[in-house]
Amino acid sequence: MAFIFKEIAHRTAAPVLVDEDKCIADKGCTVCVDVCPMDLLAIHPESNKAYMQFDECWYCMPCEKDCPTDAIQVNIPYLLK
Ligand code: SF4
Ligand code: SF4
Repeated sequence: MAFIFKEIAHRTAAPVLVDEDKCIADKGCTVCVDVCPMDLLAIHPESNKAYMQFDECWYCMPCEKDCPTDAIQVNIPYLLK
């Protein structure tokens, strides 16, 4: 049980969240993948939606700003705001 709570907490704390209902990667969009200077984002081979493959965000924001459907939310840590 503790593991489950830890896992949920970890996912909730992910710096970049993708709203899969809004993401149109399955229609060919790769904007966020292309603009991330760290190559942190990718299109998941099964869901065909964008996701954060590496958790090393620089909070530079182009993924959120350039997403045509507002599917991305970058959660900037309080200390960096
Ligand atoms: S830019 Fe937005 S719509 Fe396009 S793949 Fe990324 S999350 Fe999906
Ligand atoms: S905020 Fe910057 S580093 Fe983080 S996922 Fe978006 S483009 Fe990549």
